[in-house]
Amino acid sequence: MEIVPGIHQIDGVNGNCFIIVRNGLTLIDTGGMPRNSAKIVKYIQDILKRKPSEIKTIVLTHFHVDHAGNACDLKKLSGARVAIHEADADYVAGRKTQPVPGGAKGMIVKVLMSLFFRSMPVEPDIKLCDQDTIAGLTTIHTPGHTPGSICLFDRSSKILFVGDLMRFNGTDIEMGPLNSDTREVQKSINKIAAIDFDIMLSGHGIPLRPDASVKVREFAKSLP
Ligand SMILES: [Zn+2]
Ligand SMILES: [Zn+2]
Repeated sequence: MEIVPGIHQIDGVNGNCFIIVRNGLTLIDTGGMPRNSAKIVKYIQDILKRKPSEIKTIVLTHFHVDHAGNACDLKKLSGARVAIHEADADYVAGRKTQPVPGGAKGMIVKVLMSLFFRSMPVEPDIKLCDQDTIAGLTTIHTPGHTPGSICLFDRSSKILFVGDLMRFNGTDIEMGPLNSDTREVQKSINKIAAIDFDIMLSGHGIPLRPDASVKVREFAKSLP
């Protein structure tokens, strides 16, 4: 579906992924289920009437498999360059393994990962830092969900892509699960609350609009 002219959310892909249509195509996250690559390609061909080879940049909000799981496939297919924050680069490249919680919760996470997601390592072409510009988007380092989680701000549309920092479930804004550091997540939400944006697009859940930043500020204030 088209969120605003030229910015699309691809339906039926989990986690959510987005395409920005300008000169070339920019993909934000790739979904994680094996069939998600095919859905992304179909959307580009059938809805956008473009070719997958027009994807110039794939920006990953963080290394988790439900966001980065198809980056390897889509990079091969399109020749796009893959960008991720430098602190998540070793995870997505397979040089570091994902820290999972201890005990029963950790076991459940491991089993779910192996059953439902395939995690193919991909070597990032670009390692991002806070305030870098990538494909016209401003990178904002918002650690806590993972060490290298980022938000991406599109100034022209006043859209903020937040990955798994927060999500809107249709009624409330909430933090994502499986954060590596909850205090850091809260600090990152406060950082984001200082920006003026109209629409928040998250890695799960549905678009939050209008006046998204006003609602995020209220959410930030409600945190302990
Ligand atoms: Zn996710
Ligand atoms: Zn995540």
